[in-house]
Amino acid sequence: MTDNLAERLRAAIEARRAALIALTQDLIRIPTLNPPGEDYLAICEYLRDRLRRSGFDCRLMRARGTPGDSDRYPRWNILARREGRGPGQCVHFNSHVDVVEVGQGWTTDPFGGALIDGRIYGRGACDMKGGLAASIIAVEAFLEVCPDYDGAIEISGTADEESGGYGGVAWLAERGFFSPDRVQHVIIPEPLQKDRVCLGHRGVWWAEIETLGRIAHGSMPFLGVCAVRHMGAVLHEIETRLIPALSNKTTAMPVVPEMARQSTININSIHGGLEEIPPGSTAFPSACVPHIARMVIDRRFIAEETAEGVRAEIEEILERLKRTRPDFDYRLRELWSVAPSWTEETAPVPRALAAAIEEALGTRATWVASPGTYDQKHIDRIGRLKNCVAYGPGILELAHQPDEWVGVDDMTDSATVMALALHRLLTGAV
Ligand SMILES: [Zn+2]
Repeated sequence: MTDNLAERLRAAIEARRAALIALTQDLIRIPTLNPPGEDYLAICEYLRDRLRRSGFDCRLMRARGTPGDSDRYPRWNILARREGRGPGQCVHFNSHVDVVEVGQGWTTDPFGGALIDGRIYGRGACDMKGGLAASIIAVEAFLEVCPDYDGAIEISGTADEESGGYGGVAWLAERGFFSPDRVQHVIIPEPLQKDRVCLGHRGVWWAEIETLGRIAHGSMPFLGVCAVRHMGAVLHEIETRLIPALSNKTTAMPVVPEMARQSTININSIHGGLEEIPPGSTAFPSACVPHIARMVIDRRFIAEETAEGVRAEIEEILERLKRTRPDFDYRLRELWSVAPSWTEETAPVPRALAAAIEEALGTRATWVASPGTYDQKHIDRIGRLKNCVAYGPGILELAHQPDEWVGVDDMTDSATVMALALHRLLTGAV
C-alpha cells in the first residue's frame, strides 16, 4: 500500500472494474424511457439496494402531480445520504436516470448493455448511466480508502431531466434538498469527457408559431388563405435572414462542440392543414385550403442574449410579414424558457475537479459550457446553489444517438477524478 492517495483511490477503483461494468450494464437494462417515464421505481429500488450496502440512508420520493406523473408512470426519485464521522460539508452527486427514445439505426440491443472492445453500448450508456455508475464506484472506493471522513456524501438518481427535470431535480430543489445549508457541493456526472469541467449551459427558448389562414374549397384556393404558404414565408425568413444572423452572434462562453459557440435555432416540428392521415391508411383527404399551420422552434441562446431579445427577434419577423404579405396573420406562444446558467471557475467544485484531473490524469482541465441545458439550472435557480458543475465520462456528441456507448477506461479515469475531488471537498483542501 502506498501513501499516495490518488494511487490508492485509483487501485480501489481498478479493483472494482468488473463491478463497474456490471453496474453500468444493469442500469442500461432497466429501460427508463422518457417519455413516458418507464421503470423509474425499478431503477430507484435497484439503486437503493446497492447504496444501502455501503451504509447510505435511502429515501424514495414520488414527485406527485408533476408533468407526466400518473399511477402508470409515477415520477420516482432516490436520494441517498451517508453521514461521516463528524460534522462537515456535504458533497452531492446527481444523475438523471431517464433516457430518451431509442430511434433508428442501432446495430446493438439498445437495452442490452453489450461490452465490445472496452465500450458498453446502450441507450443511456453515455447520457448518463455510465456517469451514474462511475460516481457510485468512485464513492464506494472512497469509503474503502477514507472511511473516517467528516461531512456527508449524497447520491441522487432523479427523473425527467430529458423533459425538463420538473419531476426530478426541480421538485427536490423546491423542497429544499439542494439548499446551501444542506448541500454545499454538487457534481452532475453528465457526459462532458473526463478531462473537461462544464461550468454551465446556454439558454433555451421554445415557442410555437401558428400561421392563420381561411378555409375554402381546394379547387378554388384563391377563395381561401393558405396557412401553409404563410408558414413557408416564415421558414423563408428563418432560412435567409435569421439563421445567418444567429451564426454571427458568438459567445465568450466556452461552449462545446465549437459549432455551438453561437446562437442556434432548430425547427422542432411543423404541421399544417388537416389532421395527418396515418401512413398506409385508406382514408382520403378532403379538398380544403389549410386554415392553420403550426411550427415549434427550439432556440438556444447565449449568455450575451436575453429571452426577451430572442422573442423580440421572432416577433419582428412575424410583424414584418404581417406588414408585407397579404392576409398574413399569426399567433406566437412561448412554451418554455430557461436562462443560461454559469458557475464561476473559482468556486470550490470546479477547483477541486480541476486539481483532481491534474493529479489523476496528468493533464490540465478544460473549462467548457454545454450547448444544451441540464439540471444545473434548477440547482442554481431554485436551490440557489452556485457551486455546481457537470463532470463525467462519455463523449457528449454520442448522447441521444444510435449505438450510444461509454468507454470503461473513461469511466475508471473519471471515477478516480470524482473520488479525489470528493476527498478535496470534504477535507476543505481546495
Ligand atoms: Zn443527460
